[in-house]
Amino acid sequence: MPQAAELIRAADTIAVAGHLNPDGDCIGSLLALGLGLRTLGKRVWMLSHDEFPPRFRRLPGAGEVRSTTDAEMDLAISVDVSMKQMLGDVRPVFEKSAQIVEIDHHEYRAPFGDVQVVDQDAAAVGELVYLLLDDLGVGLTPEIAQNILTSIVVETLSFRVPQVRPFTFSLCAKLLETGVDFSSLAEMVYWSQGREATVLLGICLSRCSFLQKGKIAWSIVTKEDFERVQGADEDIDPGASEMLAIQGVEVSVLFREKKEGWLRVSMRSKGRVNVAEAAEKFDGGGHFDAAGCVIPNEQSKMDALLGKIRELLIENGG
Ligand code: AMP
Ligand code: MN
Repeated sequence: MPQAAELIRAADTIAVAGHLNPDGDCIGSLLALGLGLRTLGKRVWMLSHDEFPPRFRRLPGAGEVRSTTDAEMDLAISVDVSMKQMLGDVRPVFEKSAQIVEIDHHEYRAPFGDVQVVDQDAAAVGELVYLLLDDLGVGLTPEIAQNILTSIVVETLSFRVPQVRPFTFSLCAKLLETGVDFSSLAEMVYWSQGREATVLLGICLSRCSFLQKGKIAWSIVTKEDFERVQGADEDIDPGASEMLAIQGVEVSVLFREKKEGWLRVSMRSKGRVNVAEAAEKFDGGGHFDAAGCVIPNEQSKMDALLGKIRELLIENGG
């Protein structure tokens, strides 16, 4: 943390970026850090390969995010990025930057920066962004607080995951004290699911299949589903955790047909199976309880992935 703060103090131009298919943790952390660094007089570029899902586009600072830049940076900072491939088109900005800092909480990582601010016990990357800004003497504004709070609420699935720690709550109290409107934040996160997303979720759940006496739940959302509903890839983001919510399910797997010839895979675990281990076998990654990868759209590859999950479940007493 002190080394990262030192690099930030010395830099004039700074890029901040998150990962492909950005989630609330990545988005809230990116925006909070970007806005915070600006208060120090830095020239900050906020970058994301993919557009933010619509419900996050009204967060303070979201309108200023660009997909990439040719500008050269004194410093590039990644948030919630476990490997450089996850930067997408922003990767060249990091490769050209004089220094790189990584802020992350993934357990399984392929480090690519000069300095790592990594704490796998952090409930969300937003917690680490807060600590770093505090170290730099950046005070909490309601805008920064709203972004950090979003990162925590989304990443902890509303305080439901085991990573939630006393600090998580004490920080949330501080964030609320800035005057953040929590009910509109909750509405943004939970009560603004589009109709397309709702129908796709229905399709995903109605097609859910079970393996290993109901301990593995899996489903697929096809290209035709997306076209019929006119939904976007991110519309089915809640699918995997909704299948995990089913009683007795230990692991859920959601396949989505995205690019021609490829399947995007999302895996979630209640804690018995390390899904990051399965994801890594297929060149992906993630956390113990939430991981992903991209596999060729072939039955044999789907079978191999589900087989790996089954193997890990049996190894761990399931
Ligand atoms: P998702 O199911 O896409 O929300 O992904 C869950 C988590 O898995 C993300 O937060 C990432 O950390 C990780 N992840 C997803 N896809 C990949 C991938 N292709 N390569 C590495 N990590 C991934
Ligand atoms: Mn993330």
